[in-house]
Amino acid sequence: MNIWQISLVFSSGLASGSVLFPVARMIESRGLDSFLYSLVHRVTRPISATINLFRGRRPKGPVSLEHCSQREIHKVDPREQKLDETAQSIRGMLLSLAAAIQRTDKATDASTHTLDDIRSTLDRMVLPGELKDSHFLLLGEIDQMIASNNSLKTELSSSQEVLSTQREQIERLKTAVRIDSMTQLANRAFFEEKLSEMVQLFERYGDTFSLLIIDVDRFKSINDTFGHHGGDRVLRGVGAKIRSSLRHTDFVARIGGDEFAVVLMKASVRSAGEVARKLCGEIEDSRFILDGNEIRVTLSVGVAEVAAGDSEESLLKRADVALYQVKQTGRNGVHVAALTNQNCP
Ligand code: GH3
Ligand code: MG
Repeated sequence: MNIWQISLVFSSGLASGSVLFPVARMIESRGLDSFLYSLVHRVTRPISATINLFRGRRPKGPVSLEHCSQREIHKVDPREQKLDETAQSIRGMLLSLAAAIQRTDKATDASTHTLDDIRSTLDRMVLPGELKDSHFLLLGEIDQMIASNNSLKTELSSSQEVLSTQREQIERLKTAVRIDSMTQLANRAFFEEKLSEMVQLFERYGDTFSLLIIDVDRFKSINDTFGHHGGDRVLRGVGAKIRSSLRHTDFVARIGGDEFAVVLMKASVRSAGEVARKLCGEIEDSRFILDGNEIRVTLSVGVAEVAAGDSEESLLKRADVALYQVKQTGRNGVHVAALTNQNCP
């Protein structure tokens, strides 16, 4: 190796050292792990706060059954929607961070190998006296850079662990914003999402399904007798009974105060009507015990099967009209809507 080659190795070592060493030192001194941790915490804290806000203010479902036209379709709360979008984008950001850490980890490995090679080349060199000092200086710098790389690798691996924990938390938050905290069933937002997905699948593949809209009869009197807290406990019991009476593949949501919705997969209006009648019977035969008192509950159910040209709104409205019919004709029963999307303009 001639003097130019030695100078080239020396200057490339200095150049890479002047870039890598300060970066490694900076990350080492500030701690990449705690930096990423605080960054992720700062962005997830507002989400948790907003979720707590929602938990404290469940929709109380002012469901008027007086006139079909007054039964507006509740839209997904824009704040919940926004929260969901934020959770998605933070999740995306965490994935990018994890990818960046992996790339940095690989680059650290490559740089350690290069430094090792340069070091052994320098070790083997016989240098003229005037370059000896620089030679030792360079070896010392290379050793420090290799040590920094090693500690950087440790930091990177613990950061990866932090990131995967945060990703799991985001997944849990995403689920939390879709669940009704009282009954642990799907909430209104999740139901609207599901219904929209089902209508799209029907349009594209013709996968039929039926919708049940269920309302507890004279629930106000339960509240009046046992208080709101007692009413909540009854709602929890009714929700659990509805859930356990249906197949796992059926989708059950609490969409308002004492109102539930069920999406029966692949069910025609005929079999959905049978399921609804069986459900009514099971609830009627159930005894809800509240502080030693036996409470009897009945349900009114409107049933509608998705039809060609249906939107989520038209299907929901048809099931609502059917429910209204039951309420009008004495409650504790089922009304099945005709298979068309024309009966409630
Ligand atoms: P109907 O047979 O016509 O359905 O009579 P209803 O008394 O059940 O009347 P409606 O369904 O219109 O009202 C339901 C009541 O449920 C209104 C409200 O006071 C009460 N409610 C709404 N949300 C909650 C809740 O989260 N917990 C409790 N305990 N009660 C609620
Ligand atoms: Mg009711």
